[in-house]
Amino acid sequence: MYGLTEEELMLQAALRDFARHEIAPRAAHIDETEEFPWDILKKMAQLGWMGIIVPREYGGAGSSALAYSMTVEETARASAAVSLILAAHATLACWPIMTFGTEAQKQRYLPPLAKGEVLGAYSLTEPNSGSDAAAMETRAVRDGDDYVLNGRKAFVTNGDVAGTIVLFASTDREQRARGITAFILEKSMAGLTHGIPLRKMGMHGSSTAELVLEDVRVPVTNRLGEEGQGFRIAMQVLDVGRIGIASQALGIAQAALDAALEYAAHREQFGKPIADFQAVAWMLADMQVRIHASRLMTYTAARVKDAGQPLGMAASSAKLFASETAVFCSSKAVQIHGGYGYIKDFPVERLYRDAKITEIYEGTSEIQRLVISRELLRSVRGK
Ligand SMILES: Cc1cc2nc3c(=O)[nH]c(=O)nc-3n(C[C@H](O)[C@H](O)[C@H](O)COP(=O)(O)OP(=O)(O)OC[C@H]3O[C@@H](n4cnc5c(N)ncnc54)[C@H](O)[C@@H]3O)c2cc1C
Repeated sequence: MYGLTEEELMLQAALRDFARHEIAPRAAHIDETEEFPWDILKKMAQLGWMGIIVPREYGGAGSSALAYSMTVEETARASAAVSLILAAHATLACWPIMTFGTEAQKQRYLPPLAKGEVLGAYSLTEPNSGSDAAAMETRAVRDGDDYVLNGRKAFVTNGDVAGTIVLFASTDREQRARGITAFILEKSMAGLTHGIPLRKMGMHGSSTAELVLEDVRVPVTNRLGEEGQGFRIAMQVLDVGRIGIASQALGIAQAALDAALEYAAHREQFGKPIADFQAVAWMLADMQVRIHASRLMTYTAARVKDAGQPLGMAASSAKLFASETAVFCSSKAVQIHGGYGYIKDFPVERLYRDAKITEIYEGTSEIQRLVISRELLRSVRGK
């Protein structure tokens, strides 16, 4: 099914095996303790998965967007938190450097990222600018061969552990979106500090931190793209990133169905397995159909990316549908588990908490609907 090639099926089998043996047994502990899973990431790096989309000449695996999508999906099926660390690293940090970086920037930053020696992060959001990213207040002022950056960034995945951060700041606030510029920052740059990781509803083990910039001097050679191109770069990164979030949501939804199916087949009430009650069986069927549709949409978005075609509609649609599927399926999985679904001895309460954020980050569901409807309207209004 899904038209996967022999090579893609082999990768999927290897990912499933790794996730089952190396990640799944640790997932509940990571969730409970919020411990950052360095050891798992190290093993994933050895297998080439931290650099899955990075071209071979920069030390990566040079794989397709579809291979990346499957990597996030299978990882998320075992631990959504691990998949989030990977997704932020790969699409939000590696991809913009691969795509918009100068040769010198690629040579300097991609090999350690691809080998997983350094983690990547992407910093767009601020306390007063989330969905309205163009309203950002962080400023970058040119001073000789440097820019001097001041401001506060919010909600940065990998923010306290990343060595390389793709960060957006305004070089001309009057120009709003057209005045935003992208930079590559290094953790060691003077004046760059991070807050303590935020305490979250789910995704425990993936750290989310605030960044504070106080007179951070960033060389002009670390500007990513031209001055004023940052907003376009940020939005293109999110288009690719949304394939990752759709894949993550898909993995969470599949894990919820796996758990619900197993439980429904064995839990007996009124003298028979609860799966034999139509009300429960139909929940399982509804979960399966939405997961199937989510996978078709997510893999299609990845294939659109691989074909080099315009990605916005496909990526937003997949992210929107798959994230709502993850919330639907994890909620139904809790329901099927009855009271046991609400306690921590079963994985479904974690899945329920982890699923919710997929409807929020990299553009909320409302913003995805905005993107999709705008594109629809463009086709009738002709611009
Ligand atoms: C765990 C976690 C990890 C994150 N990781 C990163 C990261 O690595 N890098 C990064 O830059 N950011 C990251 N974020 C930030 C995330 O992308 C934002 O939280 C998200 O984009 C929403 O922004 P906001 O929280 O400011 O909400 P707001 O933009 O204030 O939205 C609040 C509500 O208003 C709605 N709304 C806003 N505008 C509109 C509109 N025009 N039409 C209809 N409804 C609207 C929203 O849909 C939402 O329901 C992360 C957030 C979390 C919680």
